[in-house]
Amino acid sequence: MMEAKRFAAGPPQGETAPSGGSDPRKRWSVGATYRGRFAPSPTGPLHAGSLVAALASWLDARAQGGAWLVRIEDVDTPRCLPGMDEIILQQLARCGLVSDEPVLRQSQRGEAYRQALDRLIDQGNAYPCGCSRKDIEASLQAQGSARERHHIAVYPGTCRPANGGLQGKPARAWRFQLPDDAAVRWTDRRLGPQAQNVATEVGDFILHRADGLWAYQLAVVVDDAAQGITHVVRGADLADNTARQILLQRALGLPAPAWLHTPLVLGANGEKLSKQNGASPLDLTDPLQALNSAAQALGLMRQTGGLAQALAAWVIAWRQAWPA
Ligand code: GLU
Repeated sequence: MMEAKRFAAGPPQGETAPSGGSDPRKRWSVGATYRGRFAPSPTGPLHAGSLVAALASWLDARAQGGAWLVRIEDVDTPRCLPGMDEIILQQLARCGLVSDEPVLRQSQRGEAYRQALDRLIDQGNAYPCGCSRKDIEASLQAQGSARERHHIAVYPGTCRPANGGLQGKPARAWRFQLPDDAAVRWTDRRLGPQAQNVATEVGDFILHRADGLWAYQLAVVVDDAAQGITHVVRGADLADNTARQILLQRALGLPAPAWLHTPLVLGANGEKLSKQNGASPLDLTDPLQALNSAAQALGLMRQTGGLAQALAAWVIAWRQAWPA
């Protein structure tokens, strides 16, 4: 287990930080309109791939004179490791990446998620579901279809009110009732035009889980709006969630942010680095080296020499290619 004290907070080693002391809002020019965020789940320490997303979100915010916030997504409590939030914040700080505002923790936000769910229920956009995984598989087999996405079956709508609702089963979870037209189009600043029919690819998705936990889709949408996030910059592995999040934003009357999904970092085996497949924690014995590797993964110049130069490279390269 990594120890928190390995990561001392402060500007990255060897970097000349812009003047302004320890307040990041004074060190970098922070304007009012752009608000970006990095939203790690404390299920393991940051790895090289997470730093790419963190750095990209920070660079994009700074390049547009915006605020950069860190949000700890500890909503899936059984998967979170105690103390990992602090380790992640220290890893970021060691690279010079410090939230402009107090860090929000999803574990404290249950009331806001409850209010959003209540609103969706009142509007007829959410319904209770009594299906177990086995029930879903059985009804898909009965329909002669076994549509799956990432090993999760496309929900066949068994408990939709129009299909008879719970029919005596106890409620286990709450699902979002997709609108009649669930074909979503959106434009990613890097990937270009995207389309997903959420009805055929996902189905009515979970908002509140059978184990009593809030679902990521609801939590992320509620928090992005509550924090006034105007630009979401995150890893391409999350791009697949965007259509669901757009539908939730529409149903809740929330503004739609701009989206940018960053390139994934592949491990030696060609698989994307992830906490689930045991990616090794970011080596921060030399934070500049770690930042340089992350900057390279973003297609920025080879040796950035730290955040200030990476920022200059971002302004030249990325903002032209993928304007906000
Ligand atoms: N908490 C999510 C993760 O660590 C990221 C969510 C997001 O950026 O929308 O994968």
